[in-house]
Order: sequence, then C-alpha cells, then structure tokens
Amino acid sequence: MTQELFEIAVIGAGAAGQMAALRSVLNNRNTIVFKGDAKTNKRARGTWVSKVVNMPYTHSVARPISAGTRDTFKWIKEESGFDDKFTEIAAAVSSLKKEAEIFVLEDSKGETYQARYVVLATGIMDMQPEINGSIEPVLPFANNGHIDYCLRCDGHHARGKITATIGHKGPAAWVAAMLHERYQPPETKIFTNGEQPAWSDEVAELVKTYKIKVIEQKITSIKGDPKTKMEAFVLEDGSEEPVEFAFAMLGQIAYNELALELGAEVTDRGNVIANDKGETTVPSFYVAGDLRDGGKYQIYTAWDQAVDSVDDIDAKLRLELRQRQLLSS
Ligand SMILES: Cc1cc2nc3c(=O)[nH]c(=O)nc-3n(C[C@H](O)[C@H](O)[C@H](O)COP(=O)(O)OP(=O)(O)OC[C@H]3O[C@@H](n4cnc5c(N)ncnc54)[C@H](O)[C@@H]3O)c2cc1C
Repeated sequence: MTQELFEIAVIGAGAAGQMAALRSVLNNRNTIVFKGDAKTNKRARGTWVSKVVNMPYTHSVARPISAGTRDTFKWIKEESGFDDKFTEIAAAVSSLKKEAEIFVLEDSKGETYQARYVVLATGIMDMQPEINGSIEPVLPFANNGHIDYCLRCDGHHARGKITATIGHKGPAAWVAAMLHERYQPPETKIFTNGEQPAWSDEVAELVKTYKIKVIEQKITSIKGDPKTKMEAFVLEDGSEEPVEFAFAMLGQIAYNELALELGAEVTDRGNVIANDKGETTVPSFYVAGDLRDGGKYQIYTAWDQAVDSVDDIDAKLRLELRQRQLLSS
C-alpha cells in the first residue's frame, strides 16, 4: 500500500471525473484520479460521444469528453502550477472499502491507495437492442449517429426524418410522443422488437392520437449504409419498415459495483442516491455524473455535480482546519 493519504480520490475520468479532478486540484487538494482501463473506457458512455452540439464551444471538437480529459490533465501537469497536487492512475478501481474513516482503494493492477473522501464518477451505459440475439448489427448505425440514446443530445435529428423508438415499455412510447410533438417528423414509429407493448393507457392514447405506428415483429436486420444513411428495419416476415433515425429506449446498466461494495443505497434503476451535494448514504462518499440519481444525464450537469461535490468536501476540510486553528489559538 502507498503510504500517502490523499484528500480526494476521483474514480472515473469521463465528464464528471475530469471536472472533479480539475476542481479538486484548483482547490489545492491533494488529489488522485483513477482514469479506468481499456475495459472500462470501452463500456463508458463518454467514450462514444463523437460530437456535441447542445453545448456552446464544443461544435468543432472531436470526441469532446475524451479530448477534455486529455487536455485538462495535460494542463494540470504542465502548466497549472498544481502538478504536485495531482496523481493520475491509468487503471480501474476494482475494490473500495472504508476502514476507520479512511477509504482504501485497490486498482486493477493490485496497487492499494488511501483517501479521506471519494467521488465516484463511473457512469452508466445504455442498453442496446438485440437483432438475432446480438447487438453487433446495431453498432455501426449507432456509431454513425443513426441510432441514438440521449434525447437532449440528439433529439433534434428527428426533424425531417422518419423516426422510430425501439422498446416496449413506457419510455419508448413517451419518447415517440414527445418527438412527434417537438419535431413533427414525417412519420413516427415504435418497434417493440418482438415484445408486447407494456405502457400506460395515458401514453397509449397519445400514440393513437398521433398516429404513431407500433410494430411488434422482431427486427431481423437494418438496411442502409451506416456511413451515410439508415433506410429501413427489416422484419421477421421479410417486410421493410422505412426508418431514417431511431432512439433505443431500453434502459441502462449502472456501473455502481463500488457503491454497492460500500453499502451505499441505490435506486431500482441502479443510480446511486445522494443529497444535493452528491454525498451518498455513506458519509464522505460522493457520486457525480450519470450514475447519480436524479440528474439530466448531460455533460454540463456532470460538471456541475462534480463541482458541488468537490466544493462540499473542500468546505468540510476547511472547517476541520478552522476548528483546529481556533482550538490552538
Ligand atoms: C451517444 C451519446 C451521445 C451523447 N451526446 C451528448 C451530448 O451531445 N451532450 C451532452 O451533454 N451529453 C451527451 N451524452 C451524455 C454524456 O455522455 C454523459 O452525460 C456523460 O458522459 C456522463 O459523464 P460521467 O462522468 O458520468 O460518465 P462517463 O463520461 O461515461 O465516464 C465514466 C468514466 O468512468 C470510468 N470508469 C468506469 N468504471 C471505472 C472503475 N471501476 N475505475 C476507474 N474508472 C472507471 C470510465 O473509464 C470513464 O472514464 C451522450 C451520451 C451518449 C451515449
């Protein structure tokens, strides 16, 4: 075990983790950040964000979240004057325990570290639709933006395109209705992909009123050239349903294993429950970004949550210092 006791450990270096590490270092806190490894990066939402248009200043930046982490950490190390406060570890945290008010973090290389406070920013991932039992047919279309997951990020692509949602529960129906109301696509469809619709009467009424077509057959392939255009979903009976843009609305995988290991409370969907500063039900253990319950699942909210958490930790550390100094004066 390294003997150093870090003031703040940040786990994850996507949108929330990069901001937590930056704010922590600029607050003059001795900070360690675990950037994850090839496996966690491949399954992180942030890695797959190729272009961001719903935030100012990002329109011409390729892969802004990965670029943000790289540039921010480079600046901290080379130009900030706070490089002595910054330790980055290119590994995933595989175990997190709390022993006598100190967090003990073990990484995927078997190294162990200690910290007073932890900010967990490991994120979530959207569930992919399966075609013939595999997600592979979906990925080329998803990677080129024809199939998306985030309404606030990419809903505007529905304008002027035959649009679909994939899913059989409430979110698939609500999002289809919402896209119809907001962008009035030429046609809106819901593909339940072999499942029975399971949404409320309230949204069923909207689906009917808006003449949203519900297709219950399984999708067997996707027609089009992923680089340029998605054309149609091919169905079990061989028919083709034209679709130019689609949202997968199938739920999420929450990367909450470390929170569960510590005994923090999570919601039914797996998001970690926290107060308005991001402190979980385990004292001194914070969560920021998509994993935190109740957020907007956006880069700017991940940043804001990270700052709130790190500033709250800073306030606690300053209070300790203040009390010590008042006692000794
Ligand atoms: C296709 C797509 C497009 C999007 N477009 C936009 C957009 O235009 N605008 C917008 O605001 N938002 C967008 N989003 C949402 C945005 O990506 C997320 O809100 C944001 O990335 C959440 O940040 P996060 O830090 O919680 O998670 P992530 O950015 O996913 O980062 C998670 C990090 O945790 C690391 N990690 C995981 N497990 C461990 C571990 N055990 N140890 C160490 N590290 C670990 C991963 O390697 C990764 O670095 C989009 C999402 C998707 C899927």
